[in-house]
Amino acid sequence: MTPSRTLRDPAELVDAALAPARRLAELEQVAARYAVAITPAIADLIDPADPGDPLARQFVPDARELEERPEEASDPIGDLAHSPVEGVVHRYPDRVLLKLTHVCATYCRFCFRRETVGRPGQAMLSPGALATALTYIAARAEIWEVILSGGDPLVLSERRLRDVVARLAAMAHVKVIRVHTRVPVVDPGRITPRLVRALKADGKATYVVLHANHARELTREARAACAELIDAGIPMLSQTVLLRGVNDDAKTLGDLMRLFVECRIKPYYLHHADLAPGTSHFRTTIAHGQDLMRALRGRYSGLCQPTYVLDIPGGHGKSPIGPSYLVSERPPSEICEIEDFNGRRHLYPPA
Ligand code: SF4
Repeated sequence: MTPSRTLRDPAELVDAALAPARRLAELEQVAARYAVAITPAIADLIDPADPGDPLARQFVPDARELEERPEEASDPIGDLAHSPVEGVVHRYPDRVLLKLTHVCATYCRFCFRRETVGRPGQAMLSPGALATALTYIAARAEIWEVILSGGDPLVLSERRLRDVVARLAAMAHVKVIRVHTRVPVVDPGRITPRLVRALKADGKATYVVLHANHARELTREARAACAELIDAGIPMLSQTVLLRGVNDDAKTLGDLMRLFVECRIKPYYLHHADLAPGTSHFRTTIAHGQDLMRALRGRYSGLCQPTYVLDIPGGHGKSPIGPSYLVSERPPSEICEIEDFNGRRHLYPPA
């Protein structure tokens, strides 16, 4: 039965049959370390009878989260090294992240910001910190795009979102407002016409980037929520984390990319899973990720191709990690060798 509210307590997960009672002590240990929340929409999707259910794997705590590896870090993508003022990450010249909240509607077990999201303490950027963050952005004419991230910005009230979007839109140099969210999937009822209006500003482009990792997440309700945004003139892109046991086979990944495109959501990024603490059971090798990308390239429409990226630990930014089809790259005066999607190699003449 669908729960009537978000489940946050391990005992509630057991009561809702999302985990067996024998795992309660394990769930409690994990919940003491990392935030837990499963919305009714996600609880409804989890198949408790399937021990390998890709939805349960993403959202139900697991004792392996307590096993940390030396290479894992509390700030795996180096946000802190690029945070000039609270709430702002300024890693690339023309864009900033604006982290308005540390709260998400649901907490992903592989989250790269798991040491900061859903923790006790201040959930929202305070009015003073928000004013300082906006002053920082206003003072830098090179900032062309502001990415609302978090946490999940779409857990905020329409009033608060409208206020932030309006204040950003008042800056002549800010042309694009991008929202990173999982809400259309995990709590689709929040995407109301009022919320959609709050994200839009005259003369500015708003983009919404949806985080989803398995085709089953794109339920009828989730698709309707995305359509609400897109029909209002907000283009949507996707981001997916490559996760062992969730989407690390070509068919699952291909089905997801096709469904994104059918929903008018352009596949954007496939992220190699970050070195977040207690998440090694989710990570694949980069070689496997490249094999999956080759499988997509050969068999699925060009519209279905995300860019496979790795956030370089230490805050050095995102880089595409292939695969490359340029087999041998010699000086410009020489011939190149390039591989096609069937693995056959061809020569390309010098310029
Ligand atoms: S929605 Fe994003 S920020 Fe929130 S828990 Fe999931 S991965 Fe982390």
